Amino acid sequence: MNRLVIATRNRGKVAEIAGLIEKLGYSVTSLVDAPQVPDIVEDADTFEGNAIIKAVETSRICGCPALADDSGLEVDALGKRPGIHSARYGGDGLSDEQRYLLLLREMRDIPQGKRTARFRCAMAYVEPQGDPRLFHGTFEGKIGFTPVGVNGFGYDPVFIPDGYDITLAEIPPDEKKKISHRAKALAAFVDWLGGHD
Ligand code: IMP
Repeated sequence: MNRLVIATRNRGKVAEIAGLIEKLGYSVTSLVDAPQVPDIVEDADTFEGNAIIKAVETSRICGCPALADDSGLEVDALGKRPGIHSARYGGDGLSDEQRYLLLLREMRDIPQGKRTARFRCAMAYVEPQGDPRLFHGTFEGKIGFTPVGVNGFGYDPVFIPDGYDITLAEIPPDEKKKISHRAKALAAFVDWLGGHD
């Protein structure tokens, strides 16, 4: 059976990704089951670069194909920040809530029509000795003025997807799973994997 390791220790991501790949006949593991893989330094300056670093390093250590993703939030009025620094925006040691409150403070003078933003996801797949392949997903929306909702994680309480008038944290998790940046990148990858031997 073909093996594939997902280069993350985030159990939520593993749950979202593994099922779809297993349906294609793969035996899927993740870094949750691979304590021998050290934390990988993500020091590229793009989502794509960081996804490739994680996939290449994981594939090298595990000796089998690896899939990695990197994602974040780009706010137009902030020159596309926090971008690749989304997880550490405001510094280490802040909670998700402290980070999105900081974002709202930074944006307090930005009017309704100029609050456009998007989540971006880059996924990299690499086979040992092979070249990485990239897949992308974007999720367009805008930043609200106050946090609302309890679902999800990260910036979900302040992100209002296009076509909705509620935040991502008010959208049921099963629906988010179908429409998110990660869902789109994953669908592109699964499409490709299913048509490739
Ligand atoms: P990662 O690279 O996918 O782990 O994501 C980096 C950071 O981007 C996370 O720590 C969050 O702050 C933010 N982020 C990525 N995807 C989402 C999402 O679906 N909702 C909210 N925040 C997200």
